[in-house]
This record gives sequence, structure tokens and C-alpha cells, in this order.
Amino acid sequence: MLNIILFGPPGAGKGTQSSKLIEKYGLVHLSTGDVFRYNIKNQTELGIMAKSYIDNGQLVPDEVTNRMVRDFIERNNNDQGFIFDGYPRTIAQGENLEQVLQDFNTEVTSMIALEVDEDELVNRLLERGKTSGRPDDQDESIIRNRFKVYNEETSPLADFYAQKGKFIAVQGKGSIDDIFNNLCKAIDHAN
Ligand code: ADP
Repeated sequence: MLNIILFGPPGAGKGTQSSKLIEKYGLVHLSTGDVFRYNIKNQTELGIMAKSYIDNGQLVPDEVTNRMVRDFIERNNNDQGFIFDGYPRTIAQGENLEQVLQDFNTEVTSMIALEVDEDELVNRLLERGKTSGRPDDQDESIIRNRFKVYNEETSPLADFYAQKGKFIAVQGKGSIDDIFNNLCKAIDHAN
């Protein structure tokens, strides 16, 4: 099994690259952001609860996100593996993922980080906000708050996986295809 965490700040291109990677490697894609947005659209209890956090650029509480991820893995268990996009985002989530995968007799193969400058990212997100309809991409102060949360709560996960010898950084600037090729090389090397 190949269980890849695609890591990087908001706007780094995790969603775009995930779509290409699942096609090439036959993995199941778990984007926690997509699952939340689906629930918001369908006005489920989870969606209504998550919306207030997401619209303010804050993280949905770990307990809720961790439970959702365990359910997803249970329902989508498969032989190929998963690509995790936007999860884990805190050390507590990283610890949860270790536990859940262990319960399914598997583990994280690698965390692959897309590295992109913050100024480039703000521009990308504001551009995306013009067409995506995502309220959290349309207001620069909310975008800046997402980076603050990323730097404070999410970036320590790089060390968490580096200590396990599972961290790989990839240049996230350039054409979509170039970045994809760099990711494939990293995955093939790790596997
Ligand atoms: P981006 O990477 O562009 O910020 P995502 O779709 O990954 O977009 O996430 C959008 C929002 O959904 C986040 O700002 C956060 O509020 C919520 N979210 C997504 N994943 C998680 C997670 N693992 N833990 C807590 N909140 C999350």
C-alpha cells in the first residue's frame, strides 16, 4: 500500500496534484476540505458546525476531523492506498492518522511537501476565489489567517515526519506537469 500525505500551505496546489496522482497510482483521495465543503453544501450537521470555522480561516476541531477521517478510511479501505490532502494539519491529527492506519495494518509511506513562497500563494488564492465560489478565498485577511494557522499549527508536522525519516520536500513552483513529475519521482523513490 502507498499512503502519501501531500503537504503544503493553502494554495500550494495539493488538490490539482492529487487529482493527477490518484489517476496514476490508483489511490483513494481524501481531501478533508472537500469533505467539509460537501457537507456544507448538503447542510448536514457536520457541515453546519464546520462552516463557522472554515469561513473564518480557522481549523475545524481535531476531535471532529479525526472522527470523520477514521470513518472515511473505514468506508474506503482498499489495497492501493490513500492520498491525504489537507490532513493531518495538527500534531494531534498526525497521531490519530498513525493510530488509524495501524488499526488497518498499514502506515504512512511518506509526507511530500510542496514548497511555494507565501506571496505567490496569496495571489493564487485570490485568483481562485474569483471563480471557486469559496468564501475563504475571497478575503485577504482570512487568507492571511489561514497562513498563520498553517505556520503555527500545521508546519510542525514536517518535523514529526522528518523524525520518522518520512519527509520529502518538492519544489512547488513551475508548471503543473513539472511539479507532477517531481512528485512522481519522490513517490517512486520512497516506495
Ligand atoms: P486550503 O488548503 O486551500 O486551505 P482546504 O480545502 O484543504 O483548503 O481547507 C479549507 C478549510 O477547511 C481549512 O481552512 C479548514 O478550515 C478546514 N479544514 C480542512 N482540512 C482540515 C483539517 N485537517 N483539520 C481542520 N480543519 C480542516
